[in-house]
Amino acid sequence: MKLLFLGPPGAGKGTQAERVAKALGLAHVSTGDMFRWHVSEGTPIGVEVQAIMRRGDLVPDSMTISMLNDHIGLQDASGGYILDGFPRTLRQAEALDAAIGEDALSAVVVLEAPESELLERLLARGRADDTEESVRNRLKLYAADTEPLIEFYEPRGVVKRVEGVGEVEEITARILGVLNG
Ligand code: AMP
Repeated sequence: MKLLFLGPPGAGKGTQAERVAKALGLAHVSTGDMFRWHVSEGTPIGVEVQAIMRRGDLVPDSMTISMLNDHIGLQDASGGYILDGFPRTLRQAEALDAAIGEDALSAVVVLEAPESELLERLLARGRADDTEESVRNRLKLYAADTEPLIEFYEPRGVVKRVEGVGEVEEITARILGVLNG
């Protein structure tokens, strides 16, 4: 099973993707975690993306796509996976289609939360890229570049919207519920 988690920064994608992956025996594939690993290891990719991430900008598509391809063979991951934080742009979504085929995604889970809640959560989290300026930039880029992907996937009938407000366990149960339903 191949799933995609979409949603604004702060909606809880990472937390929920990890929990749902565990529950369903899937791999949790986070491009944000991969980039953070490159930064902490000081790899050439890390050196290049550090400032971009700090500003809350998007890493260029070509670099993101090749980085992801180097980490996992998207076609061959036969046990299935949850993609968390990828795709974030139309070009990335098209690259994913080219790699795995348009019918490969079982579901696109969209985690939703009001903007006031997102800001509060992000500013409380304290990650290196959680400054107010970066957070505002990421919210803006989500609306401009990533949110349109919901419409891109809608005609496939796989989009499942889930309210991302409440207890962590409760939200996981909601997601597992829509995946079963
Ligand atoms: P995340 O952990 O998903 O919030 O990602 C943290 C940061 O990594 C983002 O703000 C971007 O700078 C970068 N990043 C992660 N995934 C992508 C992607 N698919 N495309 C471009 N940049 C990304």
